[in-house]
Parts: sequence; structure tokens; C-alpha cells
Amino acid sequence: MADLLLRNARPWGADTTTDLYIRDGVVAPPDEAPEGVATEDLGGKLLLPGFVDAHAHVDKTMWGGPWLPHTSGPGLMGKIMGGVERRAEAGIPSADYITALLTNMIVSGTTHVRSHVDIDPYQGLAAVAAVREAVERLDGRITMETVAFPQTGLLISPGTAELMDQGLAEGVDLVGGIDPAGLENDPVRHLDTVFGLAEKHGVGVDIHLHDRGDMGIWQYKLILERTRALGLGGKVTISHGYCLGEAAPAVQDQIIAQLAETGVGLATVAPSISLPLVKLREAGVPVGAGNDGVRDLWSPYGTGDMLERALFLAQRAGFVRDEEIEIALEAATYGGARLTGRSHGFAPGDTGDFVAVDTRNAAEAVCVRPVRSLVIKGGRIVAREGELV
Ligand SMILES: [Zn+2]
Repeated sequence: MADLLLRNARPWGADTTTDLYIRDGVVAPPDEAPEGVATEDLGGKLLLPGFVDAHAHVDKTMWGGPWLPHTSGPGLMGKIMGGVERRAEAGIPSADYITALLTNMIVSGTTHVRSHVDIDPYQGLAAVAAVREAVERLDGRITMETVAFPQTGLLISPGTAELMDQGLAEGVDLVGGIDPAGLENDPVRHLDTVFGLAEKHGVGVDIHLHDRGDMGIWQYKLILERTRALGLGGKVTISHGYCLGEAAPAVQDQIIAQLAETGVGLATVAPSISLPLVKLREAGVPVGAGNDGVRDLWSPYGTGDMLERALFLAQRAGFVRDEEIEIALEAATYGGARLTGRSHGFAPGDTGDFVAVDTRNAAEAVCVRPVRSLVIKGGRIVAREGELV
């Protein structure tokens, strides 16, 4: 937490430049900045809220390591087992690789990450420890919340629920789940276990839902039901949730209304089936964006850059107008902040996390993806011109 006065900043949405003062890590009125406080002149550069990566898997990354060709078999199970079997060969989980990826995220403007972390009987809590070590090495330049993620299933992979319970007791921040019907074949028991752990540890929930069609929509309803019953509104995220994007308009409207009313948000990684982003925004449902896995045994793609992810999101949604492209950037900033319980923005009390770029407006920032001129975490300059400070 630091104090910093930004002069001549052009906040996203404003036509003119202004000064912005960050005190004790949060935005404060600029006229309260004391004489001699650390000052940075942005010279009219565009200022965006710090990017939030709301769906990452940093524990799986091989960033900075040797290039390993992708060999996983087809389908979800092929990828799951491919990701487990080659861990030793890939040298993951690795605190070095995770540190390297997080560094790339920081210089790209990301200030907060929600990462799912694999917990399974094959590696126990090793990935949790590796992520924790990497975050410590970066010494406050980025904040992280972890999700206890049963990648190999928690019913079909016995012992996983107990390990997740232990991880949560040792400080993992949220409880995860995965395809309660499609992978686990028992959505009621899967969700009861996940929500039971959430209740026991007083934590939020973030569930991977790849299941498509009516089976996927049914699981939206089961998650909404449990969220309501436990009063967990504002603390539950459905990740991916593709089926909403391909549902009939009337079904979309019904589910979106319930998401808004219950306080369940969505995290998307810009898949080929777009979520109905405009409708979700109009209904006030928080939608965050994330990079998903970056250069891992699931996929060789990705860089960790949230402007790149916003670009993919906009392109796949068919967005071309500035105000549409800004919806994608909102997911990478305000949306992720809402999902993770943070207040990003330019008003007093908002988190002092910002990114300055040399573009004329937010849409141009997404399309051009310029070098990030300045990245600020809680009032501290953590990257300058693409280099870690
Ligand atoms: Zn994921």
C-alpha cells in the first residue's frame, strides 16, 4: 500500500484530464494530496482500472519452460488425464513457471487474479503450495485468490473432497466444482459436497460448467437453487457456462433474470460459443473474463494479457462498435472486480489499481493492445513500459 499522485490522467469515460490521488492503497480526493507526495505525470494517457483475471489456472503453466507439444486425447476426460499424466515430465506445478507467468500478467496490467488450483489424489496440495510461493516472490505486486479445484472430479476421484476440505482449512479462498452431471454423473451429490464445503468454511463458490444443452441449463438452476437456499448471493460464480449462449432466447431471459435476482455471476474465457454479453449487462449480472490455462498441457495458447482476452471476447461476440468493445473491456476490469468483491474505479474509496496506456480511447486500447505504460497496484508502481518495477 502506497501513496501516489497521478497528474494529467485521462480516466476511461472522461473527456478531459484530471489528477488522481491514491492514499493507503485506495483512491482519495486529489485536493488532499500532501506536498511532496510521490507524483507521476501521465501526460494525458488513458487510465484504466487494473485488469482482473477472473478465471486462470496458473498452477498448470509451463510459461518460461521448454516447449512441450500438446498430446492430450480428445474430449474433456482426454484433456484431464493428459494434464495429469505428463505433470512430472513438464515439471509442474512449478513456482518458477508460475512466477514467470504472473510477471507477464503484471507487466500486462493485471492486478488481481482468481486462479483455480488443481487438488487431486495424484498431487494432493502441491499446486496450492507452488502458487502461494510464486505470489510471495512477487511481494504484493499482484494479489491472488485461489479456488480449490477438483479437476479430476470429486466423486469419481475418491479422496478429493477431503483434500479440498484440508486446502480450504489451510487458506484456499473458494471452493470449486466441475460438470456435476457430465463428468460426475451425480449433480445433486456433487453440488451438495461443493456447497457443503462452502458453508463449512464460509467461502464462495466457482463452478466449471462445460455441459451443454438442457443438461447445462438444468445445472444452472441447481446452482441457483443452492445459492438462494444458503444465502450465498454475490459469492457464487459459474465459469464458462456455454449452454446459456446457445439456449433459446426465452430460456436465456429466464436464467439471466434468476442470475441477477440471486446474485450469481459468470466468468468467461472467450470461447467459440459466446455468452449473451449484452443481455447480461442490461440485467446487471456480473461477468468477468479470464485467460484460462496459459501454455499448459491443456493448451499451448495464451499470454496472460487481459487486453488480448478482451479482444478475443469482443471478436467472438461479433462486437465492432466502440461501445460494444467496451463491454468486453468491462469484463476484464469492472466485471472481474465485482466477481472477486473488489471495487475498481476512479471514485474515492476505489482500489488503487490502475493501468495507463497511450491510446485515444478504451476501444483502441483493446484493438491495439499497446505496451502498458504504467501499472499501479494499490498505489505502488509495479511495472513501467512493459518491465517489472
Ligand atoms: Zn478453467
